[in-house]
Amino acid sequence: MKRIAIIGCGVVGAAIAYELSLCPEVQLTVLDRAASGQGSTAAALGVAMAVISHKVKGRNWRLREQSLHRYQTLIPELEALTGQPIQRNTQGILSLCFEAEELPRWRSLQQIRHGQGYRLELWEPEQVRDRSPHLSTDGVAAGIFSPEDFQINPKDLTRALVAGAVANGVEFHFDQPVVGFETNESGEEGAVCTAVHTASQTIAADAIVISAGLGTLPLTQTLAQPTAVGPVLGQALRIHLNSPLGKPDFQPVVNGHDIHLVPLGNGDYWVGATVEFPPETSVEEALAMRPEAERLEEVRAGAIAYCPALAAGKVTDRWFGLRPRPQGQAAPVIQPLTGYRNIWLATGHYRNGVLLAPATALAVRDKLMGDERDRH
Ligand SMILES: Cc1cc2nc3c(=O)[nH]c(=O)nc-3n(C[C@H](O)[C@H](O)[C@H](O)COP(=O)(O)OP(=O)(O)OC[C@H]3O[C@@H](n4cnc5c(N)ncnc54)[C@H](O)[C@@H]3O)c2cc1C
Repeated sequence: MKRIAIIGCGVVGAAIAYELSLCPEVQLTVLDRAASGQGSTAAALGVAMAVISHKVKGRNWRLREQSLHRYQTLIPELEALTGQPIQRNTQGILSLCFEAEELPRWRSLQQIRHGQGYRLELWEPEQVRDRSPHLSTDGVAAGIFSPEDFQINPKDLTRALVAGAVANGVEFHFDQPVVGFETNESGEEGAVCTAVHTASQTIAADAIVISAGLGTLPLTQTLAQPTAVGPVLGQALRIHLNSPLGKPDFQPVVNGHDIHLVPLGNGDYWVGATVEFPPETSVEEALAMRPEAERLEEVRAGAIAYCPALAAGKVTDRWFGLRPRPQGQAAPVIQPLTGYRNIWLATGHYRNGVLLAPATALAVRDKLMGDERDRH
């Protein structure tokens, strides 16, 4: 039996816990300093832009494609296991392109996606108006419609992953910040971590996964291998309209100028998000950054510019979160912690943690269970 401790239960840690819970011969413990899904995950809009992203090869595309595939089986699997529906929008993503000079790039992406077996449609402004009459096409050069991309409620998803993992025998300890590690002498191949400490208990482990988002730096500092993951603030809001927008049978997520409009049903919409970088300070100081109201107002105005009817809506909620962004390396960070044989980092997912959580979980599973899986 391999004992694995996972530190951090946002969407990434929860996805890893669920995926590993499907492996035989694993005893899993998940620790979080709060409840599940309370970090960056709680603020996310859950828009999963895979086919419509400009990543076409290498690790960044591979992770997106793997997530897209795993999502197709994961959601029905979790719904059947937990009996709870996971709210999602599977009507695709419609992105408004305002620059005619960007069209050749979109056409080239369309060709590549067709070659990869995915659909991507380029619409004339008239077609955008016809399919989505609530959108203004002033200044719109084209609509890019990606029917296979989707949106999923991040809190529902995280809850379902945790419930699924619990059903498969995983132990969760909430309100238990990890404060230290037990490590043995460093050999040529690196040190080994044998246990993690919280204030009240010690969990023995053969392998450790750090999926702690913005908690990564302090944890890795404790291990003398600081891995900087800093915050990028995002604000979003919820708007209610008395009459829902557009055609009832076509309610995709819309994106214009990097502002998402996410239909939730019953005249409710999420709009967001801002991308606010901290001033040049230490990660510790940056974590204390607070939202600027005018930045959220800019996002609301930006959404109204392409969807004028939103102006009549009532803002029913506002929130912000801190995206975990790696410093000095590309997002996300899925790799062993330097100097250790049995500690894995699965962190720094920045703007795409919901999209990339399933692929991250598969990657971690393959790394941790590779030897065992080869034997079965
Ligand atoms: C406004 C906004 C909109 C977004 N929209 C999208 C979107 O549309 N699509 C998308 O894919 N992504 C989106 N994101 C990004 C996404 O939210 C993140 O990439 C994702 O949530 C990261 O997940 P995580 O599990 O790594 O981190 P988190 O959710 O932050 O989870 C980390 C967990 O680790 C725990 N932890 C930290 N330190 C310790 C410790 N010492 N001991 C125990 N536990 C610890 C924390 O309590 C927390 O629960 C958005 C983010 C924001 C802010």
